[in-house]
Amino acid sequence: MPSDSILRLVWIYPDLLSTYGDQGNVLVLEQRAQRRGIPVETYHVRSADPVPEGGDIYLIGGGEDRPQILAAERLRRDGGLHRAVARGACLLAVCAGYQIMGTTFGGEEGQPVDGLGLFDISSGRGTARAVGELVGEADSGLGIPTLTGFENHMGVTRLGPGVRPLATTTVGTGNGNGTEGCHVGKMIGTYLHGPALARNPGLADLLLTWAVGFQLPPLDDTWFEQLRQERLGAVLSR
Ligand code: GLN
Repeated sequence: MPSDSILRLVWIYPDLLSTYGDQGNVLVLEQRAQRRGIPVETYHVRSADPVPEGGDIYLIGGGEDRPQILAAERLRRDGGLHRAVARGACLLAVCAGYQIMGTTFGGEEGQPVDGLGLFDISSGRGTARAVGELVGEADSGLGIPTLTGFENHMGVTRLGPGVRPLATTTVGTGNGNGTEGCHVGKMIGTYLHGPALARNPGLADLLLTWAVGFQLPPLDDTWFEQLRQERLGAVLSR
């Protein structure tokens, strides 16, 4: 992205998938780009509308089982997200949105539902709900600090060779095998709600750097760091 052009954020299906403050991820990206003088335009794409193909970063949140199934059907039919990703767009997919990006995920009765096949993952339904704080050491290649957040899901996610785990969990369940989330190319999937980017500004800057294609100047992250330390302290002292 040339430095004088606009960063386009696309928030997919706020009417179906936006629980636990996932929309905060959009606000964090907007704010961190604007604080560096990068102009931003944000598109909220409701599920009745086509997904535009010209975005730089696409975001999709978590949600309950039925809206999740509906969102998967509509995104498969629409094809806009597939075309955007094929063009090299960035993606942050959270929880239900993360599961949808795989080949299959578990519906409300555990039945397999077709996903979008953008991530080499498949999710089933576990026996117990994973609810609570999650802490993980990010994949070393990403160069970002310890990830923290909140999870609430039934999913057990298997990763294929086409993706790498986003993190190794030290607290919480994540994918269910000691890892959390996944990443491939400029795309990230995670079970972290929260909103994840308010608690992990390093993850926000990773997405922004991928999208703009140049190194971003650091920001004063005193408040973000205070929130991180508060949450990490609360979780690790339990
Ligand atoms: N419905 C999915 C599950 O329970 C996703 C939940 C969520 O997005 N929080 O696994």
